[in-house]
Amino acid sequence: MAVEVKMPQLGLTMEEGTVSKWFKQEGDAVKVGDVLLEITTDKLTSEVTAEAEGVLIQIVAQEGEDIPVKGVLAYIGDSDEKIDKKADSPIQSPTPPPQKPMGETTVAVIGGGPGGYVAAIRAAQLGAKVTLIEKNKLGGTCLNVGCIPTKAILHAAESLTQVQEMEEYGIHVEGTHVDWNKVQKKKTAITEQLVSGVTGLMKANKIQVMEGTASFVSKDTLEIVKNDGTKENATFDKIIIATGSVPAIPPIPGVKENENCVDSTGALSFDTVPQSMIVIGGGVIGMELATAYAKFGTKVTLLEAMPKLLPLMDGELTVQLRKMMEAKGIQILTEAKVQSVEPAAVGAKVNVAFDGRAVAFEAEKVLVAVGRRTDTQALNLDAVGIENDRGRISVNDKMETSVENVYAIGDCLGKVMLAHVASVQGEVAAENALGHNAVYHGETNPSCVYTDPEFAGVGFTEEKAKESGIAYEVGKFPLIANGKSLIMNGGIGSIKFIIGKEYKEVLGVHILGPRATDLIGECALAIGMEATVEDIIATIHAHPTVTEAIREAALATEKKAIHIPNK
Ligand code: FAD
Ligand code: NAD
Repeated sequence: MAVEVKMPQLGLTMEEGTVSKWFKQEGDAVKVGDVLLEITTDKLTSEVTAEAEGVLIQIVAQEGEDIPVKGVLAYIGDSDEKIDKKADSPIQSPTPPPQKPMGETTVAVIGGGPGGYVAAIRAAQLGAKVTLIEKNKLGGTCLNVGCIPTKAILHAAESLTQVQEMEEYGIHVEGTHVDWNKVQKKKTAITEQLVSGVTGLMKANKIQVMEGTASFVSKDTLEIVKNDGTKENATFDKIIIATGSVPAIPPIPGVKENENCVDSTGALSFDTVPQSMIVIGGGVIGMELATAYAKFGTKVTLLEAMPKLLPLMDGELTVQLRKMMEAKGIQILTEAKVQSVEPAAVGAKVNVAFDGRAVAFEAEKVLVAVGRRTDTQALNLDAVGIENDRGRISVNDKMETSVENVYAIGDCLGKVMLAHVASVQGEVAAENALGHNAVYHGETNPSCVYTDPEFAGVGFTEEKAKESGIAYEVGKFPLIANGKSLIMNGGIGSIKFIIGKEYKEVLGVHILGPRATDLIGECALAIGMEATVEDIIATIHAHPTVTEAIREAALATEKKAIHIPNK
């Protein structure tokens, strides 16, 4: 039985490679490990070796040909075996060139969040006549009740901590106090400024904004129930669904009835800083708001049902972050199953099954942050045959739904719920709607958590690398050995590289430390460019910066880090 020689995947984003040189010819005997050919990508040159012993019975891909990852390059077998090249070759024909933008195409975008408004702008840039329908406020969750207000509150909290910690630099600040009304006002002002910026962008791009709720009447027609109570039906050539998500409310008895139980939107607009708060859910929202309120003096208890906090982040660094948060006085319980919530004199009592016992915690407020669900109920998806899994819309990598000319992007897919992902998917959907050929690649998507210190990752976590069965190596660098980190936060945190064992390609980078959420950009670029660890090492990083530690962590994969002993 002939064995296929396939195009290897040398990096997370690699889709194809070019056959640059064959070192063996048809009919040559080969042994395991023999170099058969050389391949190149935009970034790399690599050798492909034989994984079976026998005769190179057929070369399928000739020098100069571009072959997709996992495409067959040749066959190794017995000398008398024959392969029908045409029947077996999985080589795909090149994708057709993009068509020209269609000047008069009408496009409707449902939802004005970071997915929808970006899709609308890109569609307008490509010459379409665009209508954006938004039932609430432009900017969606992100600008109004998500990314931006959270980070404004976190910035205020971080500034307070910085003032308090200035003492060790000899700066005495007396009489610090928090004016919570002003914190809220500043948060609202930032949000309003950004929303008005989006409104301006809609005008500048000649996008018609309709204030109302849209639902499908047929595959190309929407009913829009306007906020003024009137109704209108409108037909479009293309429709992009970007209706986002809303907080999920778990079926925990007592939660719905208790006015002290709030979701993230409620927790961003408390009248006063609560004395105490229980956070149900140790995901991104729970960890960020626990960080913020603990800094303002709230006694925070965080309850997570699973053994691990932050489901998507690297496990080892998550454990480090947990210890840092506990050291700052946040009480954290994992494998804590919330049974019920009941009223209490202080606010609410949360009954929990933990470590085989029944325990209870009382607090003024309870933040329920156990995930979000898609906001697609009003759309009438099933009636027009748009495939979905309990409201999570199914799409391919061109953001096309099961119905022709209808696309979906962002949180309403119920997968990766991040603003930057929604925006990129919006660009892809708009481009495809206007006749281009765009594809969404999630490999360079960074996950950022705005804790103290910040936590960011891109690519494979160590858990994912293990699970995928890929041979990998790890390099770590503690920030205590980095001058700028020592200045900024006492050197708390570390950087971790995951690289492929054979080709040294960057598979994942994880940073726990000051400005991690900014630093991760370099690492996302490395993955996007299919960089190897040598590329990072060959790049000079400025001193004194935290970025030097990225290079040191890359060096650590080769046991060549300069400022730590290499084990
Ligand atoms: P959304 O922003 O939810 O926008 C959807 C819009 O559609 C809404 O305005 C809604 O009113 C409208 N709509 C819904 N149905 C209809 C209809 N039928 N007709 C008309 N309009 C409709 N992500 C990050 O990347 N970084 C962060 O730091 C971050 N922090 C967050 C903090 C919090 C507290 C929360 C809750 C989320 C955070 N997120 C963050 C997630 C981010 O906000 C979302 O991933 C992002 O907003 C999704 O964009 P979207 O356009 O898909 O949906
Ligand atoms: P999440 O999925 O990040 O975390 C939810 C957590 O709640 C999980 O760890 C889960 O195990 C836990 N949980 C579920 N049921 C529970 C229960 N009954 N008791 C205790 N724990 C329970 O969801 P989230 O924190 O609500 O955030 C929603 C989404 O918003 C995230 O998916 C994220 O994409 C986005 N977000 C992103 C950022 C950021 O990028 N910085 C910030 C905030 C939110």
